[in-house]
Amino acid sequence: MSDFIVGLTGGIGSGKSAAAKRFQHHGIAAINADQTARDVVAPGEPALSSIAEHFGQTILLPSGELDRSTLRKIVFNDPSEKSWLESLLHPLIRQRITRFLRSASSPYALLETPLLVETNQRELVDKIVVVDVPESIQIARTMARDNNDEQLVRAIIAAQANRQDRLKAAHFVLDNSGDLTQLYQQVDRLHQQLLTLITAT
Ligand code: ADP
Repeated sequence: MSDFIVGLTGGIGSGKSAAAKRFQHHGIAAINADQTARDVVAPGEPALSSIAEHFGQTILLPSGELDRSTLRKIVFNDPSEKSWLESLLHPLIRQRITRFLRSASSPYALLETPLLVETNQRELVDKIVVVDVPESIQIARTMARDNNDEQLVRAIIAAQANRQDRLKAAHFVLDNSGDLTQLYQQVDRLHQQLLTLITAT
């Protein structure tokens, strides 16, 4: 049972997943909020049935999976549908995250999430770690990873907290402007620091 929760956040393409993998390498249990949001609407999940009932079967792909891009368009254009969807999914996502974090058996548990500073997910964590990169690197790495154009990446960045607000909320900062070896070295040091902090509290 982990009762110390570390939130790992940063903008899109900052290197959260890369950092999370290194924490996991040290045996730290980690859950990814984006992945959890996808898991709660996987085929067979009650939330997917509710969505299909509400929006009609056309919201499902022939495979039975949720047609995310259609759903995204609907809620983007209709605030009341957006709030309907959020009131269905947010409690389920939060419940799943909380259950995972509580049952983790590592010295601390990690919540990897792009929206920590912006949302009430902040209440779930004891310390905030921010993965920080200049916007130019963030854009270049995201474009290379997702094969997206720059305009789309800039729009996603604009919808997230800005770099200053994130840094203001940070208890610890991982500078990911260097190579992966440099990121891992920082995670290794931070992991030791967190272990010391937990033993002292
Ligand atoms: P996030 O999870 O924050 O969206 P990722 O961890 O997926 O970001 O990193 C974005 C992309 O950049 C991935 O393709 C990843 O492999 C790459 N990347 C992350 N950190 C570095 C680094 N220090 N040097 C080079 N590439 C990196």
